[in-house]
Amino acid sequence: MVAGAVRGLEPRALELEVVPLNAWARLLLELCGDPRTGGGRWAQALQRVRVVRTDTLRLLTTPELEDFLRRVGDATARLINMESYRRRRLFFEAGRIDYSWMSAWVRRRAEYYSVYKLLGSMNFHEACRLIGDQWKSFVGLLKAAKEGKLEPWQRVQPPGYRKRDGQRIPIVVVRFDNYRIDLEKRVIRFGYWNVSIPFKGKPRWLTRPGAKQGRLIITYDPAKKRWYARISVEVVLEGKLGNSGLKAGVDLGRERLIALVTEPLDEKGEGIALLYRGGPLKSDCFYFERKIAEIDRMLSDPRSEEVDRAVLWEMRRRLYSKMRKRREQIFANAAAHLVKMCEEHGVAVLLLGYPRGIAQDKPGKGNTSMWSYRRLERRIAVAAENRGIPAFEVPEDGTSKTCARHGCEVQRGPRGLVRCPHGHVMHADLNAAMNILARGGGKVPMRVKVLSFIPPASKVIAVNVKSSNPA
Ligand SMILES: [Zn+2]
Repeated sequence: MVAGAVRGLEPRALELEVVPLNAWARLLLELCGDPRTGGGRWAQALQRVRVVRTDTLRLLTTPELEDFLRRVGDATARLINMESYRRRRLFFEAGRIDYSWMSAWVRRRAEYYSVYKLLGSMNFHEACRLIGDQWKSFVGLLKAAKEGKLEPWQRVQPPGYRKRDGQRIPIVVVRFDNYRIDLEKRVIRFGYWNVSIPFKGKPRWLTRPGAKQGRLIITYDPAKKRWYARISVEVVLEGKLGNSGLKAGVDLGRERLIALVTEPLDEKGEGIALLYRGGPLKSDCFYFERKIAEIDRMLSDPRSEEVDRAVLWEMRRRLYSKMRKRREQIFANAAAHLVKMCEEHGVAVLLLGYPRGIAQDKPGKGNTSMWSYRRLERRIAVAAENRGIPAFEVPEDGTSKTCARHGCEVQRGPRGLVRCPHGHVMHADLNAAMNILARGGGKVPMRVKVLSFIPPASKVIAVNVKSSNPA
């Protein structure tokens, strides 16, 4: 995809390859070639794309339903574990990878017969497909590792066992044609088992016209002590026609979570800048990290009892999962708000800077934030996809060291400012966003109107509106 897009460009341009981050970006590359030279031509070409989304519903269980889910879920986990054992041996002893679903399916009347009877042929088939998919993604990771395309935190391991502390972790897999969601009565009916389970929550994607339901997976969240059904849904998204075709550069950081700069809106040369502060995320992480450190201190105390330890480990696990959820919530809110603002201001292409190849050789702390960048980038790309806006990744190496105006080197000053030898001072993050915009073929604005926001976990608050002159 990328190779096709950069064909015919100068070697310098080849180094700065753009990577499509969502379905619109892939379509745009296919239809019009490089987004840096494509101008506004693409706007008419974008029509519709098919994407897969997930709806999550909380199941309202009774002791009987819980018993049913545990029984079926445990059998499926057993099937997955037996297949993991067989395939892992094949991999470690013979160096072969079995990623077919059929090799599990053919054993349905032999060693897997009891599981097959319990799941029914449709759902047994879907469980086999799930196993095949997991091994296929292992093959994909191996390939990525060979090509040096892995993220620094990614570990390549063959699929393991659904087991924790010696207990199997239940999972129920249902094929697309073996369940029906009754939105009026708010129950999911499962065909083969002839069971109905009430749910809570509103499906966001399933209710859209033309939506097609896919695999349904039920798992248990031990922290919340609840069962959840995740339904994969294929939906059709409509492209935005008649956009003004503005490009916007985006820099992701820690002090400023997101900094965005658009191309000039009019002939006066003024663009819009959006700033999302990283404060709430940092204070959240700080709070949880302190709590976790407290628990670690208690855990390392030799006087604490075995029973207490188990409780402490559980608390630790919960805090981590809470911290992750809070961060995801902040990312989701900020991304949704950002893309809504983009739509309002006529932004038609998003260019996201990504610090590629920086933390490659230093594992540990740096990787966590690299991982966060990825999560946030992914959130923005999906939010943009939902609103018909293509998003690309542009390498951001050196964008913080160069003046977006003059291309010369800048000096880092206090309070997140940079100083250009030509005598002007800029916001470091806005300067970086402008450089990213320029790398994506966008026109850098002479002035920007700055809109500032704080994204807490619950909603986004606007803090101030001011005009500033970056040049
Ligand atoms: Zn300058």
